[in-house]
Amino acid sequence: MALGRVRLFRARRVDSVGVLTMVVLLGPHQVHGSNARTEAEYRLFQRAILRRNGRGDPWVYLGPPPLMFVSGGKCVIDCPNCGNGPVVDVSRRLALCCECGAVCEGVGVPAAEDLETLTAIMANRPQAARNSRHADDQRPATLSELDVENVERGLPPVLDDTEAIVAARRAAVADAADAQHIRERR
Ligand SMILES: [Zn+2]
Repeated sequence: MALGRVRLFRARRVDSVGVLTMVVLLGPHQVHGSNARTEAEYRLFQRAILRRNGRGDPWVYLGPPPLMFVSGGKCVIDCPNCGNGPVVDVSRRLALCCECGAVCEGVGVPAAEDLETLTAIMANRPQAARNSRHADDQRPATLSELDVENVERGLPPVLDDTEAIVAARRAAVADAADAQHIRERR
């Protein structure tokens, strides 16, 4: 994937201890709270929920690893077994389904640089709009497409090429409108 260089990305640190106060992409800790701060806690949390709901023990999913996407700011997968949306521990590429018990290892996550770019793009959006799939058909959006969406909504670009893409698109729309206008006057 050809990408422009990341122009703006700075984690916002506000206090002297350097605590990262703005978490953009949410993982098990942010979604499940202090029950899932570590991998071990996340696994225990899954086991406890399954047990509480009478669903048996966790089991390892052995099919092709699912791909992570971002939904409402959460890093999730479509559970390949039940379609639920378990949250992904990106650094461990692990998603634990609390619905059916699937343990999904080796989840497909973006490479580090792409993840940084994705985070920067999502940081410019309100949480509800932090989605990495197209709303209409659920197709995964490219980083460029996501950044273009931001600029079209008046948000600052992250990638170098985005403003040029948006300008070209606006020019094409204006040309089409002109052509339509000329046809209508004939
Ligand atoms: Zn499941």
